[in-house]
Amino acid sequence: MKSSPFDLSNQSKSVEGKIVASLERVSQAFRVLLWNQSKEFSLSPIQVQVLIFLLHHSSEKRKVSYLADEFNMTKATISDCVKTLEQKQLIAKEYEPHDTRSYIIQLTESGEGIAKKTSFFADQIQIPIDKLSASAKENLLSGLLEIIRHLNQTGIITIQRMCSTCQFYNSDNGHFCRLLNQKLAETELRTDCEEHIPRVKTQTP
Ligand code: SF4
Repeated sequence: MKSSPFDLSNQSKSVEGKIVASLERVSQAFRVLLWNQSKEFSLSPIQVQVLIFLLHHSSEKRKVSYLADEFNMTKATISDCVKTLEQKQLIAKEYEPHDTRSYIIQLTESGEGIAKKTSFFADQIQIPIDKLSASAKENLLSGLLEIIRHLNQTGIITIQRMCSTCQFYNSDNGHFCRLLNQKLAETELRTDCEEHIPRVKTQTP
C-alpha cells in the first residue's frame, strides 16, 4: 500500500515525502504571515489577498467572476468580500456602460495604501530564497512550476497565467515566447504574466 508523506517512518527515507511535508510547512507559513497582516488592518486574509490582487492586475481581471476563479472560491463568497471592502471604503465599483450588472473593482486611495503595505506579507519567505545560489533558485523555480502545472492540469487550482499554459509559448526548442519573440531562460519563465492568453485545449476524438 502507498505510504503517506506524513507517515514519519516513510518520510525519513523519502526525499519526495520530505519535499511534500516541507511544502505543507511553507503553506502554513503563508497562512500565518497573511493572518498577521490581516489582523493589523482588521481585515480577513481573503480581503487582503483581493486588495493585493487588485493592486497588481489590469481592469479586465478586476471582476467578481475572475476573482472567484483566481482564488478558487464561489462568486457569492467573493461578492461578500467585495461588499465588505466597499463598506470599509477600500474599493469602489465602476459599472460598465453596456451592462449595469457588471462592474470593475477599483481600489480607493486608502485601499491602495493598505494593498501596498500588505503586499510585503511574504517577506520572511523571500529572505532565505534571496540567499540561495543562482542554480538552486533555478532548480527550485522549475520544480515549483512543474507542481503548479500539474495542479492546474488536474483541476485542483484554476487560473494560471504561466508560460506553459499560454498560447504564445513554444517548447519545441527550449522555451520560446512568440509574443516577445525571444527565447526564455528557465529563470525567465513567468508565473503570473500580464500578457498571458490561455492556450485553447484541443479536443481528442
Ligand atoms: S506572453 Fe507571457 S506567459 Fe505567454 S509565453 Fe510570453 S512570457 Fe510566457
